[in-house]
Amino acid sequence: MRKVYNFNAGPAMLPEEVLKQAQAEMLDWHGTGMSIMELGHRGHEFKEVAEQAEADLRELMAIPMHYHVFFLAGGASTQFAMVPLNLLNGKGTADYIETGVWSKKAVTEAQRYGNINIAAKTAHRNHLAYVPPQEEWSLNKEAAYVHYTPNETIDGIEFHWVPRTGDVPLVADMTSNILSRPIDINDYGIVYAGAQKNVGQAGITIVIVREDLIQEPLPRTPTLYAYKTHAEHHSFYNTPPTYSWYITGLMLAWLKRQGGVEAIYKINRRKADTLYNVIDTHKDFYICRVEPSYRSMQNVMFYLHDEKLTPRFLEEAAKRNLLNLAGHRVSGGVRASIYNGMPEEGVNLLADFMQDFVKRQG
Ligand SMILES: *Cc1c(COP(=O)(O)O)cnc(C)c1O
Repeated sequence: MRKVYNFNAGPAMLPEEVLKQAQAEMLDWHGTGMSIMELGHRGHEFKEVAEQAEADLRELMAIPMHYHVFFLAGGASTQFAMVPLNLLNGKGTADYIETGVWSKKAVTEAQRYGNINIAAKTAHRNHLAYVPPQEEWSLNKEAAYVHYTPNETIDGIEFHWVPRTGDVPLVADMTSNILSRPIDINDYGIVYAGAQKNVGQAGITIVIVREDLIQEPLPRTPTLYAYKTHAEHHSFYNTPPTYSWYITGLMLAWLKRQGGVEAIYKINRRKADTLYNVIDTHKDFYICRVEPSYRSMQNVMFYLHDEKLTPRFLEEAAKRNLLNLAGHRVSGGVRASIYNGMPEEGVNLLADFMQDFVKRQG
C-alpha cells in the first residue's frame, strides 16, 4: 500500500493497481522482451493496445460508430485551437460559456480564429457563484458551435445539467470530469479531455468527434491540427504518445473492473458529499463559495473563514500524508481534487482531519 493521498488537480493520483500493472509489465510487455515504450507504434503489439483502449472507451461511454475517437498529443489546451480551426470554416462565429479559468483560456485561443460570442458567464448572488439558467443565455442560432466547460477545475464549478443547443453542435472540455459520471454522448458534437486527471497520465488527450464535424478546416491549419487528418489515419498520422496511450488503456480497463461509469459515479458522489458535509456542518469555519447546485464533484474548493489559518491547515494535512491541497495560485484557499483515482479512504481521512482541525482551533 502506498502511504500518501495526492489531492493534486492534475496530474493526479492513479489507482495502485494500475501503477503495479505498469511496473510488472515495464521490462517485458507480454513476452516481447521489450517495454511497451520501445515497441514500434505501427507493429501489431501496440495496435492491439491502442484498439483495446478505444474499444473500452467506446464501451464505457456508449460511443456509437458515427463518432470518431482520437488519442492525440498536445493536451486539452491544443483543443482550444483545434476546435475553432476545424469548426469555424464557413460560419466564422461561435458561442462560448465562460464559467472559469479554463473556459476563459478556450475563449482567448478561439478569438484568434473567429468571432467569439460570450453567451453566458458565471454570476454571483449572496457571494456565491452560479451559472445563469439557459433561458438567460444569448445564444446565436448561426453559431458554428457552443463551447462549454462542464467542470471548471480551478473554480470548483460544475454543471449538473446539459445545455440544449438544438442543431448547433455542443462542444465540451471534459478534462476534469470525463468518465466521472454517466453522460449521453449523443448530446455532444465534440468531447475532449486531457487524460492526466481522470483517465491516466499527461501526454495524451481523448477527442471524440461526431462524424459530420470532420470538415474542411480553416486555410493554413497545420496538418496535425486538422481532425480530418486523424480521422483518415486513425490517430496514427505520426507517432502517437504510445506510453500515455497504454496507461490510459490500463486506467480504462480498471474503470471497467470497478463496474463502469455508473459504479464509479456512485463512489465519486459519495466522496464529494463527504467533504461538502463537513464544510456545511462547520459553516462558521469553512466556506464553499459556489452555490450548492453548481458545486463540483471533482474539485472540492473551499476556504477557511480565517484565511490566516490556511497555511497551518495545509501543513498539518501534509503531516497526515494528505498532500497538495492548496488551491490554485489564482484562487488561493483549499482544493481537494478527488478524481476517479482517489480512493474513498483518502477522502475519509481528509474529512476526519478537517473536523479534527476545527476542534483543535476550538
Ligand atoms: C487541466 C485542464 C486543462 C488543461 O489541460 P492540458 O492538458 O494541460 O492542456 C484544460 N481544461 C480543463 C477543464 C482542465 O482541467
